[in-house]
Amino acid sequence: MSVHKNPSEIEWFKCNSCSSKFKCKSHLKRHMVLHKDPSEIKWYECHSCEFKSKHKESLKPHMLIHTDPTKIKWLECDVCGYKSKDKSNYKRHLRRHRASGSMLYKLVY
Ligand SMILES: [Zn+2]
Ligand SMILES: [Zn+2]
Ligand SMILES: [Zn+2]
Repeated sequence: MSVHKNPSEIEWFKCNSCSSKFKCKSHLKRHMVLHKDPSEIKWYECHSCEFKSKHKESLKPHMLIHTDPTKIKWLECDVCGYKSKDKSNYKRHLRRHRASGSMLYKLVY
């Protein structure tokens, strides 16, 4: 007597989204996560562009790029007009001018 069940006799838990089938309901459940409809995910969307994120924490820093530019304290390079919000980037930029030497005359204070 064979201990092997005829596969057709097993009650399979079938996935509706693909051809996978599982003997165990919990396995199917776990599998179904793969097919989760993206529209069912709660997205945090940016109102100003296409950006969206599943995490609220990611949207916040993104929104900064849409902040009213007049409210941003820009650090502006008088040599080339380069602007940066970030002081360390700005400094690095200035250093590049000094290093190149080409615009040095403008940087003499
Ligand atoms: Zn599936
Ligand atoms: Zn945006
Ligand atoms: Zn510059």
